Amino acid sequence: MSRLVSRLDQFPETIFATMTNLAVEKDAVNLGQGFPDEDGPQSMLDEAVRQIRTGNNQYPPGRGFAGLRAAVATDRNESYGHSLDPDTEVLITVGATEAISATVLALVEPGSEVIVIEPYYDAYAAAVALAGAELVPVPLILDSASDSGWSLDHDALGAAVSSTTSMIIINTPHNPTGHVFGDQDLETIADLARRNDLVVLSDEVYEKLLYDGRRHSPIALLPGMRERTVTVSSAAKCLNITGWKTGWAMSTPELIDAVTKAKQFLTFVGVGHVQPAVAHALVNERAWIADLRDDMQRRRDLLMDGLDRAGFDVKACAGGYFVIADATPFGVTDAAEFCTGDLIDRGVVGIPVSAFATSGNAGHLEPLVRFAFCKREELIRDAIARLA
Ligand code: PMP
Ligand code: GLN
Repeated sequence: MSRLVSRLDQFPETIFATMTNLAVEKDAVNLGQGFPDEDGPQSMLDEAVRQIRTGNNQYPPGRGFAGLRAAVATDRNESYGHSLDPDTEVLITVGATEAISATVLALVEPGSEVIVIEPYYDAYAAAVALAGAELVPVPLILDSASDSGWSLDHDALGAAVSSTTSMIIINTPHNPTGHVFGDQDLETIADLARRNDLVVLSDEVYEKLLYDGRRHSPIALLPGMRERTVTVSSAAKCLNITGWKTGWAMSTPELIDAVTKAKQFLTFVGVGHVQPAVAHALVNERAWIADLRDDMQRRRDLLMDGLDRAGFDVKACAGGYFVIADATPFGVTDAAEFCTGDLIDRGVVGIPVSAFATSGNAGHLEPLVRFAFCKREELIRDAIARLA
């Protein structure tokens, strides 16, 4: 008999781990798990090495090194006019993942409801389950008329709010769809949050990766939202350092105090030597980050074109690491089967979008596959050749 607690019973091994293991086993091109296959800026790597060599090897301060908190605050202010006090309004975490878990554990009471936009990143459901709360998914709908190919069902969102709702989790740019929430979406969410006294957890880990001239809009900047939003981001995606597990939560002093309470017993503190290196990069490697975005846009175009020529019905992608392709033209009705069958037999790994959904009304996601384009061009070309 399993000794696993029942609230974790519903979670299998993450789809990312499963598909990466399969990619290795079958020697397939891994366009599944979203991690880059190139390093970040050399000066950042050198700084991390220098930190280890010069004795930065013990616990950093609980909220993270002041230099990194200051760099995060300056970057948010200069990028979006999001002003933050680095001493009281920024908390460094072990990746965005810890920021998400700590925020949910600190601010959501057992038994209350948390709204997520489906398809949703898997860590949200796990954090909600760990907190003993209920997940309430609201759909993103495929919409060819929308600028990003998807649209939020505003009526369904309004209907999902109940007297026990305590939080809405949003993610823009969105994993897995590449949708970027428009002003109308953000205003609707903000309006619901204000009227129902909800906290918004805004996951903005892909904030630097918006394409075709789009600009990122933090929901925390809307009227009345600063005091009810916890914004989460990470160095992982903008600096090619998913393995450094360094992220941050940003909010009011009161909410950051609360999140810190949970964080201090999850990991106590973050990883030390990488923090000054991330701070260095946020200050000195802005051009590198902008070049990364331009490169990613080219890789997106390359992959979308290849998938299209292979016969997929490819959806629009406005930001992030991923593009969605509908496999219906191949007669596929279940992408989970397709990804572990025909697709991997061709030597390519993708992730079935159904892995990001749990509600009974997510049937429209069944034939969809998520492909990552945060990979070297050579690898993307190899995948395209295998699919041709
Ligand atoms: N949120 C989203 C939407 C993600 O795609 C990811 C995956 N990288 C994370 C959070 C986790 O970020 P981190 O690796 O910094 O924990
Ligand atoms: N965020 C990445 C993805 O969506 C990987 C995260 C993970 O492996 N947990 O693919």
